[in-house]
Amino acid sequence: MSGSILVGLDIGGTSVKAMAVSPGDPTGPALAEVRHRTEPGREGIRDGITTAVRALVEAVGPATDVAGIGVGIPGFVSRGAVSHAVNLGLGAEPLDLLPTLRGLTSGPVGVENDVKTAALGARGWLARHDAGIDDYALLNVGTGLAAGMVLGGRLRAGATGMAGEIGHLVFDRSGPVCPCGQTGCLELYASGSGMRRSWSGTARQLFAAAEAGDASAVRTAADLTDGIAHAITLLAHAPDVALILVTGGMAARNPALRAAVSARLQHDDRTLVGRAVPVAPRVRWLPDDVAVGTRGAALLVAEEVRV
Ligand SMILES: [Zn+2]
Repeated sequence: MSGSILVGLDIGGTSVKAMAVSPGDPTGPALAEVRHRTEPGREGIRDGITTAVRALVEAVGPATDVAGIGVGIPGFVSRGAVSHAVNLGLGAEPLDLLPTLRGLTSGPVGVENDVKTAALGARGWLARHDAGIDDYALLNVGTGLAAGMVLGGRLRAGATGMAGEIGHLVFDRSGPVCPCGQTGCLELYASGSGMRRSWSGTARQLFAAAEAGDASAVRTAADLTDGIAHAITLLAHAPDVALILVTGGMAARNPALRAAVSARLQHDDRTLVGRAVPVAPRVRWLPDDVAVGTRGAALLVAEEVRV
């Protein structure tokens, strides 16, 4: 008997990442990590889960018991079923992942939206860098824009499961039409897809071109900066979290973007409201090598596992 593992799966548009941790020490070192390409579609996702869990068991030892499995996945998640995950080939018809997970473990299983899962997974990093924080949000600036919140130490799903889904909050009513049907949604500015409406390169190239004086790049960089700053301020004011962790490749690999957003927030902090409740000091840029997705997925079920 090799003992038991707790499994966290992070199913993304390009890869399925999986981590095995000890049920007795779920924020401790990973016992094994695997990654393989995502096969979109209902069968592809189910098979991807099975393949990843089996690969982890093989990596840890043949007699390993799977004590529980948590899954983070894009889209709308309700009671273990996921829908509206365009990058995974899922539409409005929910895909129930619970039967697949229950076929792989007799322990607890859980499924949650990937950004919410990542928020939970940031707990270990936070404990090392800002100990004692119970209220925080994770803002993911990726292809889209969404946040996850941990309030009073617990992940906030929300009454409808949509807590933190701020991408389609209207930012500019005179803005362009969003695929969702509204106009000027925040995601049209503060995300990779938003940036690509008017810029074909990377965010780094955008800020380099803006620095060099390209008028179109200056406008797009300003939109991106203002949109991200707005999202951060929203999270600082509405749930009033102590810290906002910003993740996503656009921010992690882009010092110019980080500097621009920080400068915007510091500027806003000079107002009456800003001086009373400053936002800029509450921002943390999470390094992109911190495995928050898989770790958070494992933490979804960690408390239910009997150690
Ligand atoms: Zn929208």
